[in-house]
Amino acid sequence: MKNWLRKKIRKKFNNYLVPLNIPGKNLPEKLSVKRSAAVVGGGIAGLSAAANLAERGFSVTLFEKENFLGGKVGSWNFESNGEKLQVEHGFHAFFRQYHNLRNFMKDKLGNFQHLIPIDDYVVLFENKTRQGFKNLDPTPGLNVLSMRKFGVFNYLTLMNPFSIPFLALLRFDLQKTYRKYDKESFEHYAKRTMMPKRMKLMFNTFARAFFSEPHKMSMAELMKGFHFYFLSNEDGLLYDVLNDDFSITFEKPWRDFMEKHAVEIKLNSSVNKIDKKPDGYLINGKEFDYCILATDVKHVKPLIENSPSLQQYSDFNKKIEKLGNSDRYAVLRIWTDTFEKDTDLPFFIFTDRQECLDSITLYHKMEKTSTAWSKQHGGGVFELHCYALPDHLDTEEKIKAQLIKEFFYYMPELKDLTIVHSYFQHKQDFAAFHVGLHANRPTITSEIPNLYLAGDWVKMENCTMLMEAAYTSGAIAANEIFTKEGLAENALVSVPSKGLLR
Ligand SMILES: Cc1cc2nc3c(=O)[nH]c(=O)nc-3n(C[C@H](O)[C@H](O)[C@H](O)COP(=O)(O)OP(=O)(O)OC[C@H]3O[C@@H](n4cnc5c(N)ncnc54)[C@H](O)[C@@H]3O)c2cc1C
Repeated sequence: MKNWLRKKIRKKFNNYLVPLNIPGKNLPEKLSVKRSAAVVGGGIAGLSAAANLAERGFSVTLFEKENFLGGKVGSWNFESNGEKLQVEHGFHAFFRQYHNLRNFMKDKLGNFQHLIPIDDYVVLFENKTRQGFKNLDPTPGLNVLSMRKFGVFNYLTLMNPFSIPFLALLRFDLQKTYRKYDKESFEHYAKRTMMPKRMKLMFNTFARAFFSEPHKMSMAELMKGFHFYFLSNEDGLLYDVLNDDFSITFEKPWRDFMEKHAVEIKLNSSVNKIDKKPDGYLINGKEFDYCILATDVKHVKPLIENSPSLQQYSDFNKKIEKLGNSDRYAVLRIWTDTFEKDTDLPFFIFTDRQECLDSITLYHKMEKTSTAWSKQHGGGVFELHCYALPDHLDTEEKIKAQLIKEFFYYMPELKDLTIVHSYFQHKQDFAAFHVGLHANRPTITSEIPNLYLAGDWVKMENCTMLMEAAYTSGAIAANEIFTKEGLAENALVSVPSKGLLR
């Protein structure tokens, strides 16, 4: 019976893959005239646009304000107590439904072999018990039912009339879901549906991916996340990670690819103004036919405000003005003189969060460089994340102290460790996916000719998120330009954008 259902569901979902476009078969691939493009921002979205354009013969200049590429997947070095160490922006999970990004990594960058699978998706609870999800049924719909054995809901939940709204998860539809749920917060929805504690916790792990507190988080965005990661494919909650520092496994392959295709990479090059000219754009003293803005939300607003030639485009400006930042978040990496004795823990664990510690990464188990450090020094390399800091944790000292306190709460056997090195980041540069923002979110194209937006914050017509959204938006921007130039688009795909009960 289950196998029959599985087959039916897979068929209904078109094998869990839908094409986003149909590239013209008889159109040329390569540009036969000279065209130039400026890409502003060297995160995944900018890298995607730059690499895709350059491969087709565009003359591309990539402006990045930092001295490294990758943005939030960047990596840089620092010195501590006479040692040179490498640190990243933070742990990143490459989910298996990131089809476009992973295809590019496999087919073009050649860094797919650096991806290694996580053993389990584990949540640590206050009472030190843990919940793994690796044995969940992989089929959408059946996976929800199998959550019953993990205590996420029970038969009473199914009988409770307040639970009827949960069906909306299986009835996901990009347009309808936003219309109905974008004005409601996750906190409000959880209260009115009397959401069981474990189910709430499960949703919270999704809300954290949006760097948002439950009372601000749009329920529609959360439903999209749940659909994208869990209810539209058989890949489930398991994912892969890069097995070494991002500078080796991520930045270098992009840089090699772009250098091969003659991208001019300008690091330490902040773009503070864009001048629209009759035939293109003047950026940092150079003229371009096309411009792709791939900065984060925090930096796109001052850039547009400081560009008088773009002010006449009122719809575009109105949408940019309405963008906001998420809550503050913190990432603390520590190098210690000892590590956990619990050998069956996966290298990334969610917690049920006391006040601020959302996740713990055991880098010494995951990344070759950290494993080597651990072997040499007999210690561990841990990373502690808080995805949405409460208001009262407002200084570096308070945040660090609270993260460490909660770390010891979940791993009491480590409470006497000594921190040998540490690196702390306290930021607020992720886009807000708060209640009511979706309708006015800017899209890749606008009324401004030859200017495109790319980034994980840009509204798209398909269901995607985070790194996959960043990559796909850059690739769609490149496709738009290919179409203008009469070239064939690159094929892109997506998970189905409608739920099982649609
Ligand atoms: C702590 C943390 C953990 C995360 N974990 C995950 C995860 O597990 N899985 C996942 O899929 N996603 C995760 N994400 C989200 C993921 O990192 C982002 O979705 C993705 O990297 C965004 O890429 P982007 O190109 O849109 O933006 P960014 O990476 O923010 O890139 C924007 C770039 O523009 C540059 N820039 C800004 N202004 C200017 C300017 N004026 N001139 C020139 N350059 C400029 C910036 O320096 C930056 O390099 C995480 C994010 C964080 C912060």
